[in-house]
Amino acid sequence: MIGVCLDVLIWTSYGKANLWKEIMTRSAKISWDDTVLPFQLDVLDIRGRVARLDGVLDQVLSQHDYPPVVEALVAEMAVLTALIGQTMKLRWKLSLQVRGSGGVRLIATDYYGPTGDGKPARIRAYANYNAEALDADSGGFEQIGNGYFAILIDQGQDMTPYQGITPIAGTSLSSCAEAYFAQSEQIPTRFSLAFGHSQESDGKSGWRAGGVMLQHMPLAGAHVTPDEPTGEDGLLSAADLLDGNANENWNRANLLLDTVDQLELVGPSIEPTQLLLRLFHDEGPRVFNIQPVTFGCTCSDDRVRQSLSIYSAKDIRHMTTDDNQVTADCQFCGAHYTFNPETLGFEAKTPLENDPATS
Ligand SMILES: [Zn+2]
Repeated sequence: MIGVCLDVLIWTSYGKANLWKEIMTRSAKISWDDTVLPFQLDVLDIRGRVARLDGVLDQVLSQHDYPPVVEALVAEMAVLTALIGQTMKLRWKLSLQVRGSGGVRLIATDYYGPTGDGKPARIRAYANYNAEALDADSGGFEQIGNGYFAILIDQGQDMTPYQGITPIAGTSLSSCAEAYFAQSEQIPTRFSLAFGHSQESDGKSGWRAGGVMLQHMPLAGAHVTPDEPTGEDGLLSAADLLDGNANENWNRANLLLDTVDQLELVGPSIEPTQLLLRLFHDEGPRVFNIQPVTFGCTCSDDRVRQSLSIYSAKDIRHMTTDDNQVTADCQFCGAHYTFNPETLGFEAKTPLENDPATS
């Protein structure tokens, strides 16, 4: 190919000492970064997604100074969020939350559906952890301990939000998400993810993540409740949800996906379309419009005021600093807000429009 610039990528998978050197094309890297590609394997009744994140992750993680073990968990959640968010018909927001009893207390991500055709979906994420309780000798997932994995879907004003919860199970955040879909949605689901640090020959370094999601199409009339679920901790597994033929197809797709390696997942040596052909060429993969993804926060002066409107004048006084301000920081993007306390809360003395500081 003419005009393609060859470069070298050194990829460090988090938690493993292996280094790979990979020849890549810069043009391929740029065109597929921060995208989700939907696809379908008609003969197997399976739909899927391929996600690649790079700039989004850098922006999410550069807002904070997390230890690497926490960064890795946030990266894994972000790619899960991109994959799951793209499968939903979202008018507003999908949120994933993991709450744990270990060093990592909370990982929260939000995915805002695109506002129109060709518009990007937006992702934001943050983690809350207790640095003293992090165990340097354990992997990332063990830092969560016991807790739960939740999916929240908010379709906007005047719509009842949906929330589904499953206990922390398995060995990774993706196995929690698989258990969630088996248990709460009764949809067999599989994730294969990779995330880590990359260093390019021009010195640019940063986080990259990628993944493939497979989902069996819901079976007509299926509502399976076996006497003895075969999944982790007595939860339903894919095998409990499918009958003979469908189960065979599901196993076949999973065996094919098992052959993927980490570099193929994060790219950029292989484009997502080439990867699908490599994995599933006999199943005739069909691809749909690519979804761009970007970092985005929805915080604003008005939203913070809104969240403070439930407080009394006495509560607001407790929040007021010595120089007579109420301040708030956005946990997702780090934006800093400063308010005149007299304009806050349901007992506000000075209506906002009369506040000289904001006009
Ligand atoms: Zn923000």
